Amino acid sequence: MMSAKPANSPIQNLPEIVEEQRSYFASGKTRTVESRLKSLEKFCHELELRSDDLLRALSEDIGKPPIEAYLSEVYFLISEIKLYRKKLKKWAKPRRAGNPFYFLPARSEVRREAFGTALIVSAWNYPLQLAFAPAISAIGAGNTVLLKPSEMAPATGQIMGQIVSSSFDPGHFSVVQGGPELGQALLEQKFDAWFYTGSERVGRFYAEAAAKHLAPITLELGGKCPCIVDSDVDLKTAVNRIITGKFFNAGQTCMAPDYVLIAEALHDDFLKQAKIALTRLYPDPQSPDLARIVNDAHFERISSLIPETAFRLGDDYRAARYLSPSLIPNADPESACMREEIFGPVLPLVTYRNTEELFGFLKEKPSPLALYAFSKNSEFLEQVASAIPSGSVCFNDVIKQATNLDLPFGGVHESGMGRYRGRHGFETFSFERAVTKRGFSKDYFAVEPPYDGKLERMRKLLK
Ligand code: NAD
Repeated sequence: MMSAKPANSPIQNLPEIVEEQRSYFASGKTRTVESRLKSLEKFCHELELRSDDLLRALSEDIGKPPIEAYLSEVYFLISEIKLYRKKLKKWAKPRRAGNPFYFLPARSEVRREAFGTALIVSAWNYPLQLAFAPAISAIGAGNTVLLKPSEMAPATGQIMGQIVSSSFDPGHFSVVQGGPELGQALLEQKFDAWFYTGSERVGRFYAEAAAKHLAPITLELGGKCPCIVDSDVDLKTAVNRIITGKFFNAGQTCMAPDYVLIAEALHDDFLKQAKIALTRLYPDPQSPDLARIVNDAHFERISSLIPETAFRLGDDYRAARYLSPSLIPNADPESACMREEIFGPVLPLVTYRNTEELFGFLKEKPSPLALYAFSKNSEFLEQVASAIPSGSVCFNDVIKQATNLDLPFGGVHESGMGRYRGRHGFETFSFERAVTKRGFSKDYFAVEPPYDGKLERMRKLLK
């Protein structure tokens, strides 16, 4: 049985919870790689055990089709833990460094050390993955962790809390439940590393709070990811890949192509193929294979972006928050759907006549989290990548780069800063500590006052 909402964590207990995490870190229990591996093993076991409950919760929260939930959330995390179990020893191993001859004999190395207590605050659209993936990195790097999942996916949040409390001591990893009010209270606490996923507006609050403590912060933000379709393209394949990626999780994906920028001559063919693709993917009126919109406010917001001229695949079912897939042909670049991040099952098509017009348009926009371009012309693809900065680029497909644990994930400029996934997450939650050890043999190159006449000798020696 699943209850709809976890109880909010009492805000007045926060200082105590954070203090417990600090003492746990100070106790040294998270220091050894062996202990971290053991923790991750237990975590993986609990995740697997609760896998079906999680799929049910994700369905309850946003109507996620089970296969989408399994692949993008549960399986994704299990794969990442497996990667950590395989590679952590290697990543954590101190790296030998050289020494300048005038310090010899000496031995130097670079050690990867945990920051201490990390805060992770996450968004609702992949509520499990966005919360637990950074937690795997933070635990793997040897930190203690306080996690605040999104209050907008409460059923998932509740099970996440249970998984964490049955896998970890509370001082090691705890979950607190609540919304913006709890978020505001977290901003008052001292953390050694901050990790935030969500909107740019709220991300700024976290950046300011981290700056107060001079602590590092990773910001995983959103924005509009453009998808360019050149005239030299395999159109059918391009359309199928774009439509499948866009409508996964009903478009509620930070990396989803927000809109298509298409060579003018291909617009009508693209539209025709896209209608065929949508009809094939979602044949039923209330397709169980299309996720639901997270809440009424987002349903209203997205609906208001759809103009009369849009192609609607079917009817909307407001009570079920089922928003039928929409295509907006010849979208006006100044219209509502092009002014804000859509984050829903609506795809505008904007045409361009030539590359000058295309780059002129994109250069005015904030740097996206992901940039997509479809073309058989490699030169054109590289031209796109060098003209437009973005957190990641994927040529001739969408979203695939974000599922590769060997690639860093994150934004640039307005779409965020910092990286995670696999080794990149381990590095985000640790710092490089330079360590040099010398013995007690004679110092041939000691620089000691009085310096009189020594500068010239030193110059010759160092030549
Ligand atoms: P949000 O900013 O509303 O909420 C994110 C988190 O911040 C939640 O845990 C929320 O409780 C907390 N929060 C909200 N208001 C707060 C406040 N005033 N003070 C302190 N904490 C507060 O974002 P959202 O609606 O959950 O997520 C949607 C946005 O996140 C979109 O822009 C999307 O593109 C972006 N996103 C980015 C990524 C990424 O990996 N880059 C992933 C998912 C979503």
